[in-house]
Parts: sequence; C-alpha cells; structure tokens
Amino acid sequence: MTDRIFINAVDRDGNPLELAVANGHFSAIGSGLPRDEGIELVDLGGRLVVPGFVDGHIHLDKSFVGDRWHPHQPANTLRERLAHEKRELAASAPIADRADALVAQAVSFGTVAMRCHVDVDATTGFANLHAVAGVRERWRGIVDIELVAFPQAGVVSCPGTAELLDAAMGEGAQVVGGIDPETLDGDSEGQLDIVFGIAERRGVKIDIHLHEPGHGGIAQLRRIAEHTRALGLGGGVAVSHAYSLGEVPETDVDRIAAELAGAGVAIMTNAPGDRPFPPVQRLRKAGVEVFMGNDNIQDAWWPYGNGDMLQRAMLLGYRSGFYTDADLGVAFDMIGHAGARVIGLQDYGLEVGNDATFLVLDAPNVAAAVAAAPYARRIVRCGEFADATHG
Ligand SMILES: [Zn+2]
Repeated sequence: MTDRIFINAVDRDGNPLELAVANGHFSAIGSGLPRDEGIELVDLGGRLVVPGFVDGHIHLDKSFVGDRWHPHQPANTLRERLAHEKRELAASAPIADRADALVAQAVSFGTVAMRCHVDVDATTGFANLHAVAGVRERWRGIVDIELVAFPQAGVVSCPGTAELLDAAMGEGAQVVGGIDPETLDGDSEGQLDIVFGIAERRGVKIDIHLHEPGHGGIAQLRRIAEHTRALGLGGGVAVSHAYSLGEVPETDVDRIAAELAGAGVAIMTNAPGDRPFPPVQRLRKAGVEVFMGNDNIQDAWWPYGNGDMLQRAMLLGYRSGFYTDADLGVAFDMIGHAGARVIGLQDYGLEVGNDATFLVLDAPNVAAAVAAAPYARRIVRCGEFADATHG
C-alpha cells in the first residue's frame, strides 16, 4: 500500500513528475498517479528530483577536511610531494575523524556512493585502509563506499607493496589500484602484471591512476586495454585521469577510444584545474564509459574542493565547453548513472522497486542544475526527508 506521493516535482527534462512510495521503495513513478483516499501528499514546489550523486574517485585518507586549514606547500618532485604529505598528515587529526568529516560533508550535498582510493604501501601498511573501512561501516546504509587499495608510492619501485596490495583484497578493499607504471615505477609490464594478476586471482576490479603525458600515456592506455581484453576483465577496469587523452591529436584519441571501448575500460576525470584532460564527448561517442569524481579535496596535493559532485559537474561542463542542455545533461549523468555502473551499484536510480532515495534540487531541469550548481537541496532517503544541511 502506498504511504505517500511526492507531487509537483519535475524530471530531468523539466516534465511534471510524481513519485509514490510504499515501505521505503518507489511503488509508482509518473504523472497523474491515482490517489488512494487519505494518502499523504508531499508538495515539492515544482523542484527537480534526481537520484543521489556518485563520487567515482575520492581520497578520504588524505583530506584535511575536519582538521585545521593546511596551507599548500609547493614541491618540485613527486617524491618531495609525498614526503610533505606524510609530514602534514602525521601532524593532523586521526584519519578516521577526518574521513568521517568529509563523508558527512559529501552526504549533506547528496552523495549516496563513492569509490575511495586508500594509500596502501610498505610504510603505511593497512593503517589507512582499516581506518577508512571503519568509517565505511559507520556510514553503511547512508552511503556505499567502495575501497581501492592505492599504491601511492609505486608498486615495483616500492618493495613489499605488491604483496600488500594482494593482501588488501582480504582486508576490506574491493578494487586493486595502480599508478603511473612507467613514469613512477619505470616498469610498465612489471606493474601491470602485478595489478592484473591480483585482479584475476582475487576476482576484484582495477582502477589505475594514470598521469603519464602525451603519447607515452596513450601507449600505457593501450597496454591496459590489451591486458583487460586478454584476461576478460572488461567492465571491471577503470583508468583515472588519463590526461594524455587531452594532449594528443583527435585522430589518436579516436583510435585509442575504440580500443578502450572494445576492451571495456572506463575513464574517470575530475575536470582538473590547470591541465588538459580527456575529451568527454569524443570518448562517449566511441562508446567509452566516462565518469567523475572529486579526487583530492583540501589535501597536500591541492587546496580546492568541498565534496559536492554537482559543483564538480559544473566544473566539467565549464572546462569542456558544454553549453547545450544535452551537453549539460552529459555532465549530470557523469556524477550519477555512469559512476553507479562502474561501481556496480544495485538499486540505483528513479525506478519502481528501488529504494525511494532521491535529491530535490532548486532547479527547473538537470541542465540548469549543472550550470548553477545550487546549494539549496533536500535529501529523501527511503521515502523520508533526511537532514538537509544546505536546504
Ligand atoms: Zn586520486
């Protein structure tokens, strides 16, 4: 039996929408839904209703959110940056407290799921992984958190890390990470063999940070596509950043895009501030799954960000030259359904039978929501209004 009907809402295109809820699930979605006598009607005042956001790439163990402000320190090399990060984090509040503060902030903006990369290396061991896994448990039922064991310091070049990455799959991680196999490790085949070997043996997914530039980066993408195809891991492999896709001629992009799409390798971008990044529409047209995440949020790498995926979609549209409603709608899908597919979320989206969890945004359609990224929003969880910090 229907408990209540949310009325006077609009869908992603601005068309009238009503959502009936029974026992916390959507029982009907449409317009002009039948009203049983005495049914509770909740008037949404003509606002937009959308599924919750999916943050496809976040580092909960790195952020200083929840701690004092840490002024950004310039660094000349990656190793210098890593040393600085370790120093700053050692002088910060415990990981669990900071991660908890950032999750709370992201949830208040409407995030319902995230893929979180957690540092796992020979010096850190599982300390970060265990801390963030504890935070995941505390937020279970509110936000789904998928954990990636991330070898920030390298794999081949950081002795002991390969064994730790493998063991991390039994310690709460569901995805094995990698990073710049050539420019950091100097051994592309070595790192990829380790990472893909773990994925095959453990039946887990892969998400590789790839900052390698230009044609070297494209060659790395080709290797990743080849490994994915050879092991039949399509749909379970993602490459984060892949800046090189924004640095080579379009004909080269089209060639590698066909290989990525054929192999089932997804691409994550956060629309980074001051560097080329993947051409989203070109990749999508070739059939590549492209999704979004915040990546670093107020940490030792950069000072920006607050965890809001709608603001992130706006930045993607802004940097990509998205102007039409269709383009802006693509940016919106990248903070929702695209990430949900990559993470493999069940029960996601405005569908009858799913949990009646959704966002109410102060916008006439998703194009306008992306363009303005309004903070006014409410969250409905299983048919009930949840706390809305930014309402
Ligand atoms: Zn990252």
